Amino acid sequence: MTQDSVSRRATEDREAPGSPAGPLPRRSTEDPRRRIPRTDSLLAHPEIVRASATMSARVVRDLVRAAQDRARGGQIAPEQVLDEVLAALGDGAASSLRPVLNATGVIVHTNLGRAPLSGTAREAVQDAAGYTDVEFDLATGARSRRGAGARAALRAACPEAEDALVVTNGAAALLLATTALAGAGEVVLSRGEMIEIGAGFRLPDLITSTGARLHEVGTTNRTHLADYENALGPDTGCVLRIHTSNYRVIGFTSEVPLAELAGPCRGAGVPLVADVGSGLLAPEPLLPSEPDAATALRDGADVVLASGDKLLGGPQAGILLGRAEVIARLARHPLARAVRADKLTLAALEATLTGPTPPVLAALRTDAGRLRERTAALAERTGGRLIAHDGRVGGGGGAEVPLPGWAIALDPELAGPLRIGSPAVVATVREDACLLDLRCVPEDQDDVLIAAVEGARAQGATAEPPR
Ligand SMILES: *Cc1c(COP(=O)(O)O)cnc(C)c1O
Repeated sequence: MTQDSVSRRATEDREAPGSPAGPLPRRSTEDPRRRIPRTDSLLAHPEIVRASATMSARVVRDLVRAAQDRARGGQIAPEQVLDEVLAALGDGAASSLRPVLNATGVIVHTNLGRAPLSGTAREAVQDAAGYTDVEFDLATGARSRRGAGARAALRAACPEAEDALVVTNGAAALLLATTALAGAGEVVLSRGEMIEIGAGFRLPDLITSTGARLHEVGTTNRTHLADYENALGPDTGCVLRIHTSNYRVIGFTSEVPLAELAGPCRGAGVPLVADVGSGLLAPEPLLPSEPDAATALRDGADVVLASGDKLLGGPQAGILLGRAEVIARLARHPLARAVRADKLTLAALEATLTGPTPPVLAALRTDAGRLRERTAALAERTGGRLIAHDGRVGGGGGAEVPLPGWAIALDPELAGPLRIGSPAVVATVREDACLLDLRCVPEDQDDVLIAAVEGARAQGATAEPPR
């Protein structure tokens, strides 16, 4: 059916605009509003049916009504209603989240969804999306412990941990650990580790939000073992160490190594909690000052907390690793139920841990020679310049550590059109250039990136010149 036939049918149907069930208003037959296609005809139109395959009937109906309203209000002609609806349906994307090529060189980019999942993890999510045996033993038909696979994968990847628990994110892991271990008692924390993690969220506020009290020790730049020892008492629920993942204090500083803190904590019967942030399970030679779970547990932490979607390279999750008895205590707390991980997270996390090197670690370990070769080739194909450009770990840890690399420098005017292209390309914008860093762009997307630059140039050429 063509647009014409929709308009024709609408006219034949003689639907009164705005009052489908009421009597026909006395209007001249010339009233253009009579030519507005009726809802039923639009909803049955093959092009609309095709373009709306991934959308709910309610969403499509709302878009149809909105286009009809615009025609009734005279903003568009009745003949434009069909096209208006089709344009609003777009490419039928089921979510407003658009895929992005991250050409910033920032590996764990908070605004771009942090860690991209590996191909294996994406497949696991797909498999788990339907009914799945997340809490069911298929062999016996009995109920089983939720997320046993992810738990086993965590223990295998970090043998220093007797047990593991997965929750919704790192902040939830911190909330659960401090709430369950301290209750209304005290959480001992150094003043050098009072962190704001972003968007105004402060970890000390999170800890005290459930009734635990903070017992601050030391100063911003220096905290000593005696400060912790003096704080330990009958009210102490736990001692907390938080990795300062997004800033560094330099100069006249001192902090207590975890291994030194473990003895006094054990002596006082107080659990030692280490929030390592990044999710490194083992030391990473490229980030020597980034703490990891295995080392923290060997140093005597009773429980280690981390995010799943920073340097671990998996889905958003909070990971708790540690002594079986402490993990069991956390798992029993009512809050554990409120922050438990969903089946998609558990599937993606297990696949990340058992699968090939995830994209985040691949980007971190990118071979500089190969990156230069690839960047030079793309610079030539896009008419850009090859320049040295440091990548960054980003929000995941290793704050400030430069990752030497390369970028393609293009006209700064291209940044805007690149962002609104499909796929969207997010570059680093400098006053004099738009920089494309390929570190976090999958190699098989190089042709897509070139097409995006060409598309952005074409759009720039038709756009108004900048003022
Ligand atoms: C990122 C971070 C958190 C918060 O983790 P989310 O997964 O973002 O909730 C907590 N502590 C530290 C040290 C972090 O780096």
